[in-house]
Amino acid sequence: MNDRITIEDIKQIAPFSQGSTEIFLTGLWSSRKPVHIDKTSPCRHACPIGNDIARAFYEASMGHYDEALRIFRQDNPLPGVCGRVCYHPCEVLCNRKEYDEAVNIRGFERFLADNGKVDIGREKPAHLRKERVAIIGSGPAGLSASYHLTRLGFSVTIFEALPEPGGMLRYGIPEYRLPKDILDREIGYIRDLGVEIRTGARVGKDLPLTDMRNDYQALFLALGAHGGTELGIKGEHLPGIMDGVTYLRTINLGKKVRLGKKVAVIGGGNTAIDCARTARRSGAKDITIIYRRSRTEMPALAEDVEGTEKEGIKIELLAAPRRLISENGKLSGIECVRMRLGEPDASGRPRPIPVEGSEFLVSVDSVISATGQAPQTEFLKELGLLVDKNSVIEISCETAATNIEGIFAGGDSAGTRAFVADAIASGKQGALAISCYLDGIDIKKAFKNHQIGDQPSFSFQHLLDPEHYPADLKKVVPYNKINTLCFPHGARHDNPDNLTPKEAVKNFKEVAGGIDPSQMPFEIYRCFKCGTCTHCDLCFLLCPDISIMKGKDGYSVRTDFCKGCSQCATTCPRNVIEMGEGSGGRK
Ligand code: FAD
Repeated sequence: MNDRITIEDIKQIAPFSQGSTEIFLTGLWSSRKPVHIDKTSPCRHACPIGNDIARAFYEASMGHYDEALRIFRQDNPLPGVCGRVCYHPCEVLCNRKEYDEAVNIRGFERFLADNGKVDIGREKPAHLRKERVAIIGSGPAGLSASYHLTRLGFSVTIFEALPEPGGMLRYGIPEYRLPKDILDREIGYIRDLGVEIRTGARVGKDLPLTDMRNDYQALFLALGAHGGTELGIKGEHLPGIMDGVTYLRTINLGKKVRLGKKVAVIGGGNTAIDCARTARRSGAKDITIIYRRSRTEMPALAEDVEGTEKEGIKIELLAAPRRLISENGKLSGIECVRMRLGEPDASGRPRPIPVEGSEFLVSVDSVISATGQAPQTEFLKELGLLVDKNSVIEISCETAATNIEGIFAGGDSAGTRAFVADAIASGKQGALAISCYLDGIDIKKAFKNHQIGDQPSFSFQHLLDPEHYPADLKKVVPYNKINTLCFPHGARHDNPDNLTPKEAVKNFKEVAGGIDPSQMPFEIYRCFKCGTCTHCDLCFLLCPDISIMKGKDGYSVRTDFCKGCSQCATTCPRNVIEMGEGSGGRK
């Protein structure tokens, strides 16, 4: 299956003359000539990492799966992780969504990561640099910074407090959503590239930060947010209550946590959902999630919330805990109050307001509080590094720089949106900032040259290989510029579940499966590949003046014969051709 168009297809798409223009006394004339210019797809524009998704789909449409994976890896060293747990903003803005259903981009990324071959030799830098950079923390932000800095030629060491690298990807997100062998494989490639990872090394305790400043030319802090936050209600310190990140970390370290039969989880984010599903798999029978807003405002992914309910976990919406109740010194219940939604608060979501007199009791043996996490940044104060009242490291959002020269920060500990893709993006930004700092280049200018649209994301692909990937990153293709006549309607191929909910709760095996390889070509075909020339030949075949020429490097325009009728531009399926003043051709 490929995107090549036949004469028969064309007859269906557009009025197509096969005669000669010699019968006309005058033809159409215009000084505007077609220019082939690759642009930016809306999915790429929406992706915090800036993955060149349309080009990867194009390569895959020709069966080049390894090349498609390489395109993802030019900006993202963790496609197998993102292909499983990313919140896929790319799909929300997919042009195909306007036509029938969004393309399963996350499923495609996972498919490539699981089936494509990585050639680390091609990712290695051409020149090595003498400067050494230390990264503290091996979560997605630290891993991403290490990968991109190494590709830029720097020598990088990661220091990690926990026994294994990965941060929340290993010690937060459970195995049933992100199997550890997938994470190990992708961290393995980062090591193969040359990054040194020292685990069991807590900076500030095992290693003084001041020593590191002397040994390395730049530091990137990617500490995450591993401290639980308090509920701030009476009874909070009773036995039987623990915070969500500690609970998940303990389980992911392979230790046991004794929970009662009746468990309440407070919160509506990923941590709350994962705590509830982990408790279910660990033997708790009666689990209730208590969330103070409605389902629409739950920060967890909709599909994960759905999965939770299928596994028999109750969700008590518009309710908040008021106090924890004990009997004989043992936790026995939570008094909750009903909430209603008011005007939006600082987060933009409707403010939950208690409905007085609506108190009710939930009987419990254990409570897991998952209402937020805080960075553990106390030790940074020894250097005079500024952190805010929530312990978040203060950085300039344009340069990722802290108040101390040569120290940069990113990810959850620096207040980035608490998602994997955003952490990876902030690691990329940190890498660019550090390389500009060490080279004495203005980062704002460097960023602008490779910025994607008007987003805070930029392209390493474009930075490292501009000749190979000359797309105009500022021009984003809207839906109304897609020639939908070229695309048959077709249903989306979703990832199937590997297990029924009944089977799933008995173990920690991965629940979501990959798209079947026999189905993948159909999903690849569904992608419009907005803004990417797929050499479909429509311009070549439809030109009434036979002015579009086909060569081994793509198309060129014979401007002596082109009358500027713009047939090619209007019919181009992917909005790759523009009519411009000048000599035409390819940009
Ligand atoms: P982390 O991943 O937290 O990594 C920080 C690392 O720094 C840790 O390994 C820590 O041990 C180390 N460290 C800290 N201090 C020191 C020190 N002093 N010395 C050495 N090392 C140190 N996001 C999604 O997009 N999708 C999801 O489905 C999703 N699910 C989640 C589920 C859970 C349960 C949790 C907790 C989070 C989830 N997230 C999800 C959010 C996502 O995991 C985080 O936003 C992301 O991991 C943050 O990356 P990071 O690199 O900033 O920090």
